[in-house]
Amino acid sequence: MKLHDKTFVPYLSEAEILAAVKKVAHAVAEDYKNQVPIFVGVLNGAFMFVADFLKAYPHPCELSFVKLSSYQGLTSTGIVETLLDPPDNIDGRSVIILEDIIDSGRTLQELVHLFSDTNVKEFKIASLFYKSEVYNGEYTIDYVGIEIPDKFIVGYGLDYKELGRNLREVYQLENQRHMINLVLFGKPGAGKGTQA
Ligand code: 5GP
Ligand code: MG
Ligand code: MG
Repeated sequence: MKLHDKTFVPYLSEAEILAAVKKVAHAVAEDYKNQVPIFVGVLNGAFMFVADFLKAYPHPCELSFVKLSSYQGLTSTGIVETLLDPPDNIDGRSVIILEDIIDSGRTLQELVHLFSDTNVKEFKIASLFYKSEVYNGEYTIDYVGIEIPDKFIVGYGLDYKELGRNLREVYQLENQRHMINLVLFGKPGAGKGTQA
């Protein structure tokens, strides 16, 4: 599948993703069944996760959104801007952030900072995808759907230069080694184990 100049290959099916979403929703529900938490979705990437998470969440809850920006294309620009602020009147409430993916943790750091001058009762993070190998933050992620390797993915809300958000499945950027094998040997997987 091609988006702009890049080729992506299937990585996670709709069923695998929905199972992970339900797992996270049920874990949060178990911890918050005796209160009414405020879920805060991080736009734009988390919109599909937020929708399926709330459909799987069985108890009363509220929903709000924040919007930050840090990624351009495949890599972080290192600039995190706040485009939509956290909700008002959240003092004394339990806030659970719903993120699509945590990579370096820079965006998460900014999120924690955004809520640092509020008097929330509890602040937790639930992320559908988590690149644990490259996470460089201090905050422990409270709820994780699926740990994934350090490879760029699209689909299920996540974009490559704004394309791919509508895909129900998740796709991974095609491996360069795979491309080299195709060119050198004419078949996928050839030349495996020849790396230095
Ligand atoms: P971090 O600040 O943790 O490095 O990156 C977090 C944000 O970068 C995510 O919310 C997401 O918007 C974007 N991002 C990180 N990794 C990926 C990825 O593999 N695919 C896509 N589409 N976006 C990513
Ligand atoms: Mg995000
Ligand atoms: Mg993006």
